[in-house]
Amino acid sequence: MKANCLITENLSGVLDKINVATKAAGRPPGSVDLIAVSKTHSASAIDAAIAAGQKIFGENKVQEVSAKWPALKDKHLESRLHFIGALQSNKVREAVRFCDVIETVDRPKLARSLARSMDEGGQRPSCLIQVNTGEEPQKSGVLPADADAFIAACRDEFELPVAGLMCIPPADEEPALHFSFLHAIAERNGLATLSMGMSADYEIAIKFGATHVRVGTAIFGTRSSPEFGAVKPLSSD
Ligand SMILES: *Cc1c(COP(=O)(O)O)cnc(C)c1O
Repeated sequence: MKANCLITENLSGVLDKINVATKAAGRPPGSVDLIAVSKTHSASAIDAAIAAGQKIFGENKVQEVSAKWPALKDKHLESRLHFIGALQSNKVREAVRFCDVIETVDRPKLARSLARSMDEGGQRPSCLIQVNTGEEPQKSGVLPADADAFIAACRDEFELPVAGLMCIPPADEEPALHFSFLHAIAERNGLATLSMGMSADYEIAIKFGATHVRVGTAIFGTRSSPEFGAVKPLSSD
């Protein structure tokens, strides 16, 4: 089968499963948005997904955002881009320029840079706070114990448009625990958006209240080039 047909077929399979899981959870139809994670995949693969009706995409590297998305956004005005990777302060300006949502706000220095770039550039992508629910040392995200204070600082001190939370559970643990934990933190902070669940566990995430699931492999196939999206770069500040 040609690559583009496969993407179309995969996409409709994932959307079917999202609908089934949403209904099974007793949630209204359409209450879960699919973010197609296109990192490492070509603009033509993204074009194929857009042609099949997909509107929201996710990338985890600013360099890749800048290489692929200015042209894609010119061509497809409806498309929306979520930044889902570790974000260094010196790349914030570019991320703010091309992304509609920044899902990985996790430290004061980054929050401050985001606030400054938004003031300068005029664009105000909405922000999710990434929580390191598994307290993994190699992973980005604010620690659960610091989450409430950091959320408050992002809202009140940095005046960021905070919409919700995001997490990436540890690979070797029951994801449901982490999803329900993130849901509880969002609820007590009055946050509506929950980005959680990837190819292996998005149906579980929907059961625990995900409003956005981030699915790459199940749509575009396995990634050939290495990627380290879930891991802090060494130079992270
Ligand atoms: C790569 C990535 C995904 C998608 O993972 P798949 O297993 O390919 O679905 C989701 N979220 C983040 C933060 C990622 O880096």
